[in-house]
Amino acid sequence: MYRNGEVTAQVWSFRDFTLAERLQKELYKETSFRVAILNTLPDLIWLKDTQGVYLACNDRFEDFFGAKEIEIIGKSDYDFVDSELADFFRAHDKKSMEKGGPSVNEEWISFANDGHKELLETTKTPLYDHQKKLIGILGIGHDITERRAAEERLRESEERLSLAMRGTNDGLWDWNLVNDEAYYSPRWKEMLGYQNDELPNHLETWKQLVHAEDRDRVLKEVTDYINGSSDSLEIEMRMHHKAGHDVHVLSRAIRLFQEPDGKPVRLVGTHVDITERKRVERHDERNAEILEMIAIGRPAAEIYDAIALMYEARHPGMRCSLLELHKGRLLHGGAPSMPKAYCDAVHGLEFGPDIGSCGTSTYTGHRVIVENIETDPKWATIKDAALPHGMRCCWSEPIKSSTGKVLGAFGMYYDYPATPNEEESNDLKAAARLASIVMERDQNQKRIHQLAYTDELTGLASRPHFFQSLDELIKTSKRHQRRFSLLYIDLDNFKNVNDTLGHDVGDQLLKMIAKRLKKFGRDVDFVARLSGDEFCILMDDVSDDYITANLAKRCLELIAQPLELSSRWHTPACSIGIAHYPDDGTDASQLLKAADTSLYAAKEHGKNRFAFYNQELTRKAEYRFQFEQYLREAIESEQLTLVYQPQLHLTTGQVIGVEALSRWHHPVMGQIPPTEFIQVAEQIGMIKPLTKTILCNACRQAVSWQQQGLPLLRMSVNISPSHFLDEQLVTLIDQVLKETEMDPTLLELEVTETAVQTDRKNIAIFSQLKESGIQIAIDDFGTGYSSIASLKHLKVDSLKIDKYFINDMLLDKKTQYLVNTMIEMGHNLGHTIVAEGIETKAQLELLKRLNCDTAQGYLFSRPVSAEAIPKLVVNGIPT
Ligand code: C2E
Ligand code: MG
Ligand code: MG
Repeated sequence: MYRNGEVTAQVWSFRDFTLAERLQKELYKETSFRVAILNTLPDLIWLKDTQGVYLACNDRFEDFFGAKEIEIIGKSDYDFVDSELADFFRAHDKKSMEKGGPSVNEEWISFANDGHKELLETTKTPLYDHQKKLIGILGIGHDITERRAAEERLRESEERLSLAMRGTNDGLWDWNLVNDEAYYSPRWKEMLGYQNDELPNHLETWKQLVHAEDRDRVLKEVTDYINGSSDSLEIEMRMHHKAGHDVHVLSRAIRLFQEPDGKPVRLVGTHVDITERKRVERHDERNAEILEMIAIGRPAAEIYDAIALMYEARHPGMRCSLLELHKGRLLHGGAPSMPKAYCDAVHGLEFGPDIGSCGTSTYTGHRVIVENIETDPKWATIKDAALPHGMRCCWSEPIKSSTGKVLGAFGMYYDYPATPNEEESNDLKAAARLASIVMERDQNQKRIHQLAYTDELTGLASRPHFFQSLDELIKTSKRHQRRFSLLYIDLDNFKNVNDTLGHDVGDQLLKMIAKRLKKFGRDVDFVARLSGDEFCILMDDVSDDYITANLAKRCLELIAQPLELSSRWHTPACSIGIAHYPDDGTDASQLLKAADTSLYAAKEHGKNRFAFYNQELTRKAEYRFQFEQYLREAIESEQLTLVYQPQLHLTTGQVIGVEALSRWHHPVMGQIPPTEFIQVAEQIGMIKPLTKTILCNACRQAVSWQQQGLPLLRMSVNISPSHFLDEQLVTLIDQVLKETEMDPTLLELEVTETAVQTDRKNIAIFSQLKESGIQIAIDDFGTGYSSIASLKHLKVDSLKIDKYFINDMLLDKKTQYLVNTMIEMGHNLGHTIVAEGIETKAQLELLKRLNCDTAQGYLFSRPVSAEAIPKLVVNGIPT
């Protein structure tokens, strides 16, 4: 009809001429281009009148009927297809007409020209004239065979995907990169403990659920993938489960691009819960780590803890313990998560038929499952140790050696009553097996160590052990810059014992000597027998040579105790060579050589003595011991004397008291200053008898002056801080006061600041002394480290400003201010102020100006004998 823009004559065969005319007019308006379009379109297009008679059609439609348009026009569907299909077409026509608008149908149509089939989407639209009168139906048939096939394929693939997802238990997610909207499948949410209607469909949901430690890494990998920096996306991460724990997730994804610019617009992926796989992996890793620890010989206790922790990690809530069986007792092996109180309570328990799960399993050699500790009779005696710590069930597997001997037990605990499931049961067995490897190895090693590191005859450390310890000590001393001493002991004349009494008796002597050396116990760090009659002692962290010398001396004394050897009394003796690290050597061989040289020197000098490598030290030590000996004798025989130094009232100039100061003149060593002998007396434990003598003599002297008719004088006696803090001092003072009939109010005790500390004991001593009526002065005030605040708690009468300040106060303004401050502060606190060591008039004048109360010093008098005092008191001292 409108082929190639030509209007053909057939048009006039239309029955409805009015319409035909109109159409003709319309069609005339059509350009050849439009006609071409209609015929080029892949769609079938046709026009029917209201009765179903064809008015026109395009080329594609011709193929359907297998007839030319000219043959179609004027005919109806009944002329070309079977009546059933024609009815169907007609019904559709009617439907669209009734509807008054487009009606769409889908149908499979066979094309008459070549017999092929197509699925057509047919749209029938009623046509109206300008008076809105229905004049026909426009039909368009669009081939949707391909589209439907594609849809079908998609549907099938989606169905397969969904089935696959359901099968694999994977969660699905879909992230729209343009608007950050995200889809999370029900399974995705369920994996994290959420319902399908929970969690908003947004990227933030995912971000919030990813473990904070994994988030940055995951986001980087995702960004890299989106940007194309990486080719695939497969990441593992931890995500938070609603219940609070973490879920390990494997996430895989593909990016989808937008056509045509190829920009990624979506990321679609899956989530797989790999928590269980991770748990198994982690367990395998830990297992491998433990095997490595065993292989490289880590200490057993460390491995026991690692085994316990491995099973605790595998079973959340479980606590594990490893007990070793030693001589019928259960000893703590490893229980890193058990409270110390429980471990202590179990440690040392005797194994037995009803001693908890582990005690019973070690006893019977069989597994013991206790479901409820509270009610199980096996726990009756020890449940009180377990229940307070929350333990409710305990399963125990005996740990056995390769020969089947029970070495200990592995215990698993929960804080609720339970019996083991299959996995727990298998793990209990595996844990005990693993522990047995370590325990057996450890026990063998201990035995080997015992054999190699202990001297068989004496039970002391052996020579190899000594060398190992020496090397370690050198290393630690080097690291911490410490000094240590090595004492090389050799018995004197041991050969004689062997030769005359035989080797058995010789061995017996060595054993006895070893027993004596063991007595040093904690005072020394190491005692070993090196060979024959040679022994060695190591003493760590020695700062003072005197300490070493003292040890050597005690050693000589201890060994020289008489002993019975084959029914004869024998007095052994030894010589000792001493070397110091690092002074005499910095490695083992240098040190031993030095000690050996010193030992030789000791033997040369007549045996039964010690010698330092540095001979000067030996001389000093010998002097020191001689000094100690003389002092001891002097104190015992009361050879020490007292001198007295007057103390004057600064305003009246009157002698109001004296300070008693000790003097020791030894016939050989000459005059020895008190600062020296007082310190040694303290060290050798002679300070108490010394103080007692001094106190008695001083008080006796004071009473004697009174009896001579002298005015009442205060007697100040110095007390060592160590003795001052001794509770027995109070008793001693009372005793002395009673014995000498001294007026307590005239006695003053001088103690240095070291004693001024406010602990409870100290406060008590100060107040007890005060109760006796005596006075207390703080000596050398200002030089110690006492806290001034503590003065307010202690009952003190006077402060003696040290002569150091008096010396300097005229030379240095700051010292003067300090003296001034001390005096003011002392006064404000209610103390009398004594200045000691006044040597010049100028010092005296200044102290007067500063309101000091009492003065003492060479300016007035040196310490003098008791006989010289009355004269000074009676005649007065010019000030
Ligand atoms: P201290 O208790 O501070 O005694 C004062 C010391 O200063 C005395 O020395 C005394 O002789 C000396 N001295 C006094 N005036 C002057 C002076 O103007 N110039 C100089 N340069 N020195 C002066 P000494 O007697 O040698 O006593 C020294 C320390 O020995 C005493 O210091 C005291 O801490 C202690 N001491 C003395 N005798 C005894 C005692 O019987 N028992 C105790 N525990 N310690 C005592
Ligand atoms: Mg004094
Ligand atoms: Mg003093």
